Amino acid sequence: MAFEGLTEKLAAAFKKLRGKGRLSEADVKEAMREIRLALLEADVSYKVVKQFIAQVTEKAVGADVLEALSPAQMIVKIVNQELTELMGGTSAKLTIAPKPPTVVMMVGLQGAGKTTNGAKLAGMMKKQGKRPLLAACDVYRPAAIKQLEVVGEQLDVPVFQMGQIDPVDIAKAAVAHAEKHGNDMVFLDTAGRLHVDEALMDELKAIKAAVDPTEILLVVDAMIGQDAVNAAKAFDDALDINGVMLTKLDGDARGGAALSIKAVTGKPIKFVGTGEKLDQIEVFHPDRMASRILGMGDMLSLIEKAEQSFDEKKAMELQEKLRKNKFTLTDFYEQMAQLKKMGSLSDIIGMIPGIKASDVEGVGVDDGMLRQMEAIILSMTPYERENPNVLNSNRKKRIAAGSGTQVVDVNRLLKQFDMLQTMTKQFSGGKMPRNMRKMMK
Ligand code: GDP
Repeated sequence: MAFEGLTEKLAAAFKKLRGKGRLSEADVKEAMREIRLALLEADVSYKVVKQFIAQVTEKAVGADVLEALSPAQMIVKIVNQELTELMGGTSAKLTIAPKPPTVVMMVGLQGAGKTTNGAKLAGMMKKQGKRPLLAACDVYRPAAIKQLEVVGEQLDVPVFQMGQIDPVDIAKAAVAHAEKHGNDMVFLDTAGRLHVDEALMDELKAIKAAVDPTEILLVVDAMIGQDAVNAAKAFDDALDINGVMLTKLDGDARGGAALSIKAVTGKPIKFVGTGEKLDQIEVFHPDRMASRILGMGDMLSLIEKAEQSFDEKKAMELQEKLRKNKFTLTDFYEQMAQLKKMGSLSDIIGMIPGIKASDVEGVGVDDGMLRQMEAIILSMTPYERENPNVLNSNRKKRIAAGSGTQVVDVNRLLKQFDMLQTMTKQFSGGKMPRNMRKMMK
């Protein structure tokens, strides 16, 4: 699968940051060096890498105020945001003409996947209720017309062809045919060459001038890395394209093309091809691609959850209380309620590198437990809540009766409270990721 090397190298860079309580500028610098190398090796263009690293560094150095996260996670988050931005931020849609038909001109080098992916796109639109028409404007490659007819038949999309005459005339006739037959989209399959050349560009410009396409979609092969970016630049300079379809992402593309195209041409990737089959096409989502490159989709949603659930001021107060050994059962209850907002504790722990769920067994929280915990804690006197060590067996019996529970339940709660306190102290030396420590406080 594409991006494997990049994903691995980025993960290695992040791993070194884990377990560090606070990042020094040197730590950030070292991580940036590794990320830079990883991107260069993935064939991302030098200029793009340079700018990317500058942006991530700037954010990383200024970001240690964000106390809810561990520094390593913070860097992952920043890299994720910047990767998403690099690829265009949000996903870009196909432009639809206000008055049908929408004319989509598929352009690109020979072998990039124009014919296959133009058909895939037509098939995708058909599924969305459109009535597409495929038009054979590649009159040089002998098998091109036949190939288009074959894929058209497989998708049950009509194919317009006029043999090997001037492609400009075919394009015009195809649009007229669509208007007459109620096809609301026309996909023009144009000719390619092995390299960008003037004759090809002139022909494409003539088609563009003749039919005024709604959208010029450049098809590029992700496998050719930097060359794909260069081709994109050349096509854009000549034709002012609207977007890119990046094909063969199912191969072992290193990722450079996906990461550089938007930055170099200013034009977004709109679709990706992920296989030879006609349904192997996807809308391109920069954010999902970034998470995929980072191999950390789950981790990112965890970080988001943590950010949403933590009240920074409260966390600081708790930290202070803990330091002074003034952490009470009331605080404990509040923390459990916070944790519950984030989902199951074992799930959360499973996402944090270096900690096994079994390390914290017995601290799981569910609704029933929380209600019981609340009842028990509310049955204590304020003094008992602040000083749980005064709870002798008589007091425990009274609390159990008051909360409709058993003494064993009271004991379990006290044990959990104790455990959490011990763990927090044990880990506050830096062994545990900071966000986890905070959770426990
Ligand atoms: P064209 O010359 O630009 O029209 O390219 P074609 O559509 O003929 O595609 C060239 C080759 O790439 C064909 O063998 C396609 O099956 C293959 N191809 C196209 N898109 C993809 C893709 O997303 N993944 C893979 N693995 N192969 C693809």
